[in-house]
Amino acid sequence: MPFKKQIKLKTAVLLPFVIIFSVTFGVIAFVQKANYEQMVQDISSKQLTYLTNNVEQRLYNFLEEPFLANLSLSHNLGFSHLFQKGDTQKIEDFFRFNFSQIYKSIPQIDSAGFGGINAEYVGFRKENDHNYTLMVQDKRTQNKLVIYQNDIISNNIRTVIENYDPRERPWYVPVAEHHKPMWSSIYTNADERQEITLSSLSPVFQDKQFVGVSVTDVKIDTFNAFLRAMKQQTEADIYIFDNEHRLIAHSSAGGVVSWGTSLSPKGTRLMATENASPVIKASAEHFKQLEQPTDIATKNFVTHVNSDRYFNKVTPFEDEFGLHWFIGVSISEPNLLGEVPYNQRNAWYIGLLISLFGIGIGYIAFNRITAPITSTASAAQHLACGDWATPMPKSGNIYETSLLVHAFNEMANNLKASFKALRTQLVYDSLTKLYSREGLVESCSNLKKLNGCLFLIGIDKFRDINDSLGHQLADQLLIAIAQRLKNIYASDAYIARIGGDEFALYLPLVKDEQEIQDEANRILQLFATPYSMPNEPIAVNVSIGIVHNSDSTNMTVWLRNGSIALSNAKSDSTRISYYAPEMAGISRKRTQMVTLLKVAIEKHEFVPFYQPIVDLNSGEVLGAEALARWISPELGLVPPTEFIPVAEESGLINTIGEQILLQACIDTVKGIEEGKWACDFRMHVNLSVSQLSSYLFLPQLEEILRITKLSPSNLALEITESKIVDNDPIILSNMLALKKLGIHIAIDDFGTGYSSLSYLHKLPFDCLKIDRAFVTQLNHDHLEESIVAAIINMMKGFKVQLVAEGIETQEQVDLLHQLNCPQGQGFLFSKPIPYQEWPTNLVNMRQKTAN
Ligand code: C2E
Ligand code: MG
Ligand code: MG
Repeated sequence: MPFKKQIKLKTAVLLPFVIIFSVTFGVIAFVQKANYEQMVQDISSKQLTYLTNNVEQRLYNFLEEPFLANLSLSHNLGFSHLFQKGDTQKIEDFFRFNFSQIYKSIPQIDSAGFGGINAEYVGFRKENDHNYTLMVQDKRTQNKLVIYQNDIISNNIRTVIENYDPRERPWYVPVAEHHKPMWSSIYTNADERQEITLSSLSPVFQDKQFVGVSVTDVKIDTFNAFLRAMKQQTEADIYIFDNEHRLIAHSSAGGVVSWGTSLSPKGTRLMATENASPVIKASAEHFKQLEQPTDIATKNFVTHVNSDRYFNKVTPFEDEFGLHWFIGVSISEPNLLGEVPYNQRNAWYIGLLISLFGIGIGYIAFNRITAPITSTASAAQHLACGDWATPMPKSGNIYETSLLVHAFNEMANNLKASFKALRTQLVYDSLTKLYSREGLVESCSNLKKLNGCLFLIGIDKFRDINDSLGHQLADQLLIAIAQRLKNIYASDAYIARIGGDEFALYLPLVKDEQEIQDEANRILQLFATPYSMPNEPIAVNVSIGIVHNSDSTNMTVWLRNGSIALSNAKSDSTRISYYAPEMAGISRKRTQMVTLLKVAIEKHEFVPFYQPIVDLNSGEVLGAEALARWISPELGLVPPTEFIPVAEESGLINTIGEQILLQACIDTVKGIEEGKWACDFRMHVNLSVSQLSSYLFLPQLEEILRITKLSPSNLALEITESKIVDNDPIILSNMLALKKLGIHIAIDDFGTGYSSLSYLHKLPFDCLKIDRAFVTQLNHDHLEESIVAAIINMMKGFKVQLVAEGIETQEQVDLLHQLNCPQGQGFLFSKPIPYQEWPTNLVNMRQKTAN
């Protein structure tokens, strides 16, 4: 069966289910993801803004205080006229007084100092031990920069730096130029600590004269502590860098000055991209790629570090005193949202698992539904291929499919039963319970080899037996025959009834020729005793066709050959015939002949030729014998010896005989009417036993006589002696009926059939035709001992006409004359001729004699 683009039920049901499920899941996932992203954006933005603002505020405070302090210092210096050329004593005192105050309140201040216009310098610097150290350069120190161990001028000197000119320092120069407070650029301190420093610078005016610069250093590194604390609280990485991308402060471990690498020598400020924290590094790198020199707007972006997503915000940080920095904040997704992303991911996994589980459950459920359907379909397919042993489908737990499976199983069981019954009918003969033809073929196909012997047993004249016994008794007879065969032959024999009156017996072990002959005789012996039937015992004769030594391994071929042999046995009356390959040709010809005969009957190609029957004394024509001729357009004129036996065997003789009888009757009436034949002219028509034993014959004959208006006394029917079945009640009754009608009956070819005289006695006949063979044998020497003489003597008591057949010579006429044979027929008088050619002078002759 062509399956064009068909899908399975399971797919048809599951696919939409899975599609809907997947689409729904997909849409939910998409919306959820979008919502989540939106939420992440919002939260990150808020959190980053908050953090940045916080840092910004703190940074302002961090820087503003030192700046304001410095402004106040510079203002007080000028206002109090503390600057004296070459002597910083007053400023030193002022600073010493104020410094401890400032330091306490503004811890990020590292040092405070003053650089004068004459290269004076005084300053205090905070030490790690919370003491201060004094740094002075004026005439008291011979204009050298002396750094003391504590906050007073003493011999306790830490360092002396020569040729130090504060006016050249980066914190001095811009202020001297612009005369306004400002931030210095970031620089590394010139002292031994080399710390990153930012200085708050302010000009000092005394009497409106610029006298120097007040400088307060802010140790920016201290801001790191704040950033680190913030990181601990918020988990955010924070870094501050200038517009050269150099780090100012950051929340991770490590400083902002290089300890010396190949890229950055010791003491150089580190770039933000060099930070030890991968988060800051990634953020700084990303920003570096983004940043435009002129663009100082806030930037938000995302980076990925160690498979975590980081949200970044870089905001410019500027003030009116010249700061131009950036604050960078990075926070990871988990830190931003806590457990939310994990929960979110877990929720998805759980959702997905539940979905898969759902689909799995669906699949199993649908399998349960479809399994009985598919197994039913597969069972149906197997049954369709004839595989009756295929297991039947199981019903399952679903009501509807159970209904289907139950219905199917019931149907399949019914089918199986019907099939079994059909097979039994096919394989076994219902009447005898023997194998049928098909059964024999099939069971023999299981044999490895066919090298035994096949006997085909045909019951002779079964049609007659059937007609005389009636069908019911004939069936009984067949059953009895089958039983006898079964009784005799052991289980290794294959016995079958292969036709109405034919039995087959295959003996696999019989091979030897003598054995075969013995078996054939045994079979004949089996039928020697008559069968006891309710009315009277029935003698059954059989003919046997034998096949052995066949090359074929197919029992069908054996049976066909057996049938040919049997036909041969029947037609030759030999009773036993061994199959020989040449028989097949004859048989084939016979089959072809049957076909031709059927057509010839249709076309009325059979016509009677007439041969006169003559009074041997007077030479008078007493009648004629109608002899069938087949005038075939293809074969020409065919004599009856060639087609009558085939017609008899095939049953076509009845129709041919009927056609000949009708025509002979028509011609007789015509011949008499035309004056060709005398009024008591007797037309002899040959009758086959098959016709005579048919119930239909008498009505047929009566109908012909009625139509042709032929007087029954003008008709004689010839029945061949050898073909009359002994004790056939129908033949006898039909003959009596014919007699009753006034029709003459002639026994044809008398002497060849060995009829028992007692039986002959029973037959109602009017005429006996002595067979041509005996006429031919006649001679002068042994005339009295001749069979013809014996027949004539025998018939003396009977009131019958005697006709000698086949008279060819005048001598034969004379001899017959001597024996007192009254009538004769033969080529001497005339060959059989068509009605038209019948000479009128024969009639004239008789008329002459009569006169
Ligand atoms: P039959 O009934 O014994 O007919 C006589 C046969 O002997 C005829 O042969 C005839 O031509 C032949 N015959 C006659 N005189 C001579 C003779 O002097 N010498 C020789 N050699 N033969 C002679 P035919 O016509 O060939 O018929 C053969 C047989 O066919 C008939 O033998 C008869 O038994 C049968 N037959 C013929 N016509 C019919 C028919 O219409 N129905 C039936 N059932 N059988 C028929
Ligand atoms: Mg005849
Ligand atoms: Mg004859």
